[in-house]
Amino acid sequence: MTPFSYSKPASIEQALSLTGPHSRFIAGGTNLLDLMKENVASPRQLIDISALPLHEVGETAQGGVMIGALVSNTELAWHPLIESRYPLLAQAILAGASPQLRNMASSGGNLLQRTRCQYFYDSATPCNKRVPGSGCPARAGLNRNHAILGASQSCVATHPSDMCVALAALEAVVHVRGHGGERQIAFADFHRLPGETPERDNCLSEDELVLAIELPAPRFGRHSHYLKIRDRASYAFALVSVAAALQLDGQRIAAMRLALGGVAHKPWRDPALEAHFQGRSATVQTYAEFAEALLRGAQPLADNRFKVRLANNAIIRALSTAQSAGVQP
Ligand code: SF4
Repeated sequence: MTPFSYSKPASIEQALSLTGPHSRFIAGGTNLLDLMKENVASPRQLIDISALPLHEVGETAQGGVMIGALVSNTELAWHPLIESRYPLLAQAILAGASPQLRNMASSGGNLLQRTRCQYFYDSATPCNKRVPGSGCPARAGLNRNHAILGASQSCVATHPSDMCVALAALEAVVHVRGHGGERQIAFADFHRLPGETPERDNCLSEDELVLAIELPAPRFGRHSHYLKIRDRASYAFALVSVAAALQLDGQRIAAMRLALGGVAHKPWRDPALEAHFQGRSATVQTYAEFAEALLRGAQPLADNRFKVRLANNAIIRALSTAQSAGVQP
């Protein structure tokens, strides 16, 4: 591990003043410390943000909820506002990692966790995400867990988060602050597809700090469901996951949101397709048509062709379960 200095600022201003090309913010450290131990990340300065005033969950004037970046995954999943108004988010968080990791991991850090592609963590192999221009051994190598949508010749990695799949479906907004001031980023624009620059996972600049995640006023009540398909029952990343939410008008779809995890470099959504299905009858046949359309552009690799069928069936099941879950507020 490369030697590094450590500081623990007491204010956001002080934290931002410490940023530079070789610095990294650290909160729970549940991913960054692994990356450092494997020599995948070698920051020369760690800025511990755990003392910053970003630990609150509160209601917004617009009827939504603002989640401080340092709220732990456990606190968030069991918070009364989240449990009662956004059960989709609570389900997704509790489907991820282990209780010990959720106790440590922060909400802001969850957005920034890096892919679990095995080549990315093995510094003896090339990897365009770790060393730009070195190549992507996953394309012709072991790619069972890799992307089927939105990948590039440079990288076929998937985003590992469960929480982010629900946040994409709920159309969260990320509040960040850097030297240029504060800005708000729609969740769909926060993470990137790999293109020719897979080393960049998201749209943050190096001086920007995630302050909070804002959820809009709830629209979907209990007609939502998070379905995660994985190799073992717990403590495993998704092969495919689905965050599904429906607003129903009798037996018709008034609105729908659906995001996929485990299939792309970011949570995968198609808002135009969702809008196209507005007004359709809420039936298994409709859900099957939606799944087929969402996956039409899938380009599986040698080892992950099964993901297309798996995702198709998971979408139908998640939407069917969302439909029968609970009563709208
Ligand atoms: Fe690296 Fe991406 Fe290829 Fe994995 S898929 S080896 S992260 S470039």
